[in-house]
Amino acid sequence: MNEGAPRVALTFDAEHPDRPRCPPGNAERILDVLRDAGVRSTFFVQGRWARSQPGTARRIARDGHLVGNHSNYHVRMPYLSDEGLRADVAEGEEAIREVLGVDPRPWFRCPFGEGHDDPRVLGALEGLGYRNVHWDVELEDWEPWRTAEHVALDALDGALAHGDGAIVLLHTWPAPTAEALPRIVEGLRRAGAALVALEDLEGLP
Ligand SMILES: [Zn+2]
Repeated sequence: MNEGAPRVALTFDAEHPDRPRCPPGNAERILDVLRDAGVRSTFFVQGRWARSQPGTARRIARDGHLVGNHSNYHVRMPYLSDEGLRADVAEGEEAIREVLGVDPRPWFRCPFGEGHDDPRVLGALEGLGYRNVHWDVELEDWEPWRTAEHVALDALDGALAHGDGAIVLLHTWPAPTAEALPRIVEGLRRAGAALVALEDLEGLP
């Protein structure tokens, strides 16, 4: 890492898509780009998705990426009772341990980001050994009208405008995300940024 280079953490939510824009193999394509570029990223894995796509899910860990828990059912956390929340997070964790063979703690991301500012949700997560990781830059890569061009340009602008420690939200299933990723990696590197996993952001003020 260059001394003083701004750090950017690309984070991918690996989950069942909620839109019909998921060509088969999209997550694998993303993993290929990261491998070829030598980039270690962070993946928030939905438990149910891991069980349905065990080969791809396992590869995330095998390729050396940092793994977080993205719940089991991908329900909006504030809708769950304390007990329901604990059960869902535990189920997601169990799936990740069984399929990927890693412990996702302490990394958690609330589905849809909902609950990131809810003390009850955050307290329950903390009791389970988790801290929620929200994001600084969102690219709306889930929207049907977003092209790879939009996603790539906004990722570069957003991450560089934020400066050191930018956390970028991406998803494993939209085709434009996989298409934009080589340009995002190249563009950030050309701008002098260091691409890191979340744990490398520890020590941020
Ligand atoms: Zn999600």
